[in-house]
Amino acid sequence: MRITNLKLTPVAVPDPPLRNSWGVHAPYALRIILELETDEGVTGLSEANGGAALLGELVAAGKAAEGETPWHLERLRVKLRGLPRAWSALEVACLDACARSIGRPVYDLLGGLVRPRVPFASYLFYKYEGENDRWGDVNTPEAMVGEARRFREEYGFTTHKLKGGVLPPDEEVETMRLLREAFPHDRLRIDPNAIWSVETSIRVAKALEPLDIEYLEDPTHGLAGMAAVARQTHIPLSTNMVVNDMADLPMAVEMRAVQVILCDHHYWGGLTGCKRLASVCESFHLGLSMHSNNHLGITLAAMVHLAATTPHLIYACDTHYPWQEEDVIVGGKLRFEDGSLTPPAGPGLGVELDRDQLAKLHENFQRMATRNRDDSAEMLKRDPYYLPFRPRW
Ligand code: MG
Repeated sequence: MRITNLKLTPVAVPDPPLRNSWGVHAPYALRIILELETDEGVTGLSEANGGAALLGELVAAGKAAEGETPWHLERLRVKLRGLPRAWSALEVACLDACARSIGRPVYDLLGGLVRPRVPFASYLFYKYEGENDRWGDVNTPEAMVGEARRFREEYGFTTHKLKGGVLPPDEEVETMRLLREAFPHDRLRIDPNAIWSVETSIRVAKALEPLDIEYLEDPTHGLAGMAAVARQTHIPLSTNMVVNDMADLPMAVEMRAVQVILCDHHYWGGLTGCKRLASVCESFHLGLSMHSNNHLGITLAAMVHLAATTPHLIYACDTHYPWQEEDVIVGGKLRFEDGSLTPPAGPGLGVELDRDQLAKLHENFQRMATRNRDDSAEMLKRDPYYLPFRPRW
């Protein structure tokens, strides 16, 4: 089987006005759908995170992959070493094509299932009210408990991650306290995207210690800052900001800066790249969790195949999926049961493209001037005093 063409379709997916330390999510999230065509008539699917800039890299990666076999992942990885994000997306499409060609699920190529179902976490956001937005305005600790309750009831999640760095730190501590009170047996985590100073991070960590927090994600900026915070708290620190490449790991381990690494197949070199990361984490007694940007069902399926085959991934995975109302897969959105997903049935990733939906979301991309999204500009429209500097507190 040889790769003959890589078909790329950029899409724009409506996104509610979710807040984070940079500002507020733009009205559309950008994704690129990959269809890796082969001379055997089998097509592999994948989904990349990004817009026009990544599109250029993917075009180059597709050209470089033409004539290669999707089975030889290491050869392709070396060939595309200058295009790591494009490689990450292409790798998933290769695995999907290979698995489809032999009528097996992708998880069989990743070592087989070690857990029947993959638990996910609520991704709790402070937010403004958007158009046709069923979640409303959530900008107080009390309103956030209401949001978490809905996530719990609608999806069955029993782990909840708060996207912090939005309200002043003491109000976010109060939010965590109310969440603990409302859900005494659930797991809680918070991620302020490195917007706090070292001093604020330590003060917040001390306040969170009695609440039995699963981990504190990227409280402050940089490895030295994280190490300074880690020395002062017994809450594990996790990251998707200071360690996002193998080259970042030796110093992070040496400085004892982090205790949990978030994998993400979109930038850790695909599903096999995340497997490599899992082995390293195991060796150095680091925990492994899973990161998420806005995404659609193809990515969600890939996340499930990976998590279901990775014993070291013991934390519930992050996902933005419930915030997206649209998808590009046949049958509509994948449905969580008791806060979990099982790998979709069928060969490969187990998902097929819905051509009408793909065309509709591609039209959004062409129509909307969101190709260079700027959260800060959006935020400044709402709050003229807003400054996306770090540390802000
Ligand atoms: Mg994070």
